[in-house]
Amino acid sequence: MNFNESVTVICASKYFDTTQMRKLYQKQIFHFGENRVQDMLKKMDELADLAITWHFIGHLQTNKVKEMINRIDYLHTLDRISLAESIQKYAYQSVKCFVQVNLTEEDQKSGINPNNLTQFLLDIRKYDKIEVIGFMTIGKDNDLSATEDAFRMLDSLASQNNLAFRSMGMTNDYEIAIKHHATHLRIGRKFLEML
Ligand SMILES: *Cc1c(COP(=O)(O)O)cnc(C)c1O
Repeated sequence: MNFNESVTVICASKYFDTTQMRKLYQKQIFHFGENRVQDMLKKMDELADLAITWHFIGHLQTNKVKEMINRIDYLHTLDRISLAESIQKYAYQSVKCFVQVNLTEEDQKSGINPNNLTQFLLDIRKYDKIEVIGFMTIGKDNDLSATEDAFRMLDSLASQNNLAFRSMGMTNDYEIAIKHHATHLRIGRKFLEML
C-alpha cells in the first residue's frame, strides 16, 4: 500500500490479533484503531513495548470512558453531549477528538446530524478536556455515490469550521476519501494483504 505522506493511515485492527499487529508494526504501521474498549485495553497491555499511536474508532459507551480515555491518543467518535460530559469528568488532559457526523441519513448509524452540528460545536466549547481537531464520517455500505457525497460534505464542513482533520475512508472507499482531502484513513481488511 502506498499513500501520500500527508495522510495518516490507521490500521483498523479489530480483525487482527496482537501477533498480526506486531507484524504490521514491523512494517512501519504505527497507528492502530480499535472499536471495542475491552479488546483495545488487552491489546495495549500486550503491545506495551511498542510505540503505538492509539485511536478509538468505535461507538463509545459513557460507562467505559473512565478506563480508557487516558490511554488513547485520538477519539474519532465524539457523537453526543453525554459522552463529552463523561470525558470532561475523567480525562486528566484534553483529548484530541473528531466529531462524528452522520452524512448518509441512516438512522441506525451514530453521528451528529449535520443540521445540529453548529449547535453541538457551541455546546461542547465549555468542556476544556475536549479538543475538537476535525470531523469523522463513515460512508454508506454498497453505495459509492452516496459515500462520495458524504465525503465531499465532510470536507466542506471541516473547511467551514476551520478544522484541519478529516477522518474518512475505509478499504472500499479510501480512494474517494483521499480525493476529498481525508487526512486520516481507517483501513482494516486491506491490511490482510500485508500479513
Ligand atoms: C472496521 C472499521 C473500519 C475499517 O473497515 P474496513 O472496511 O475493513 O477497511 C473503519 N472504520 C471503522 C469505524 C470500523 O469499524
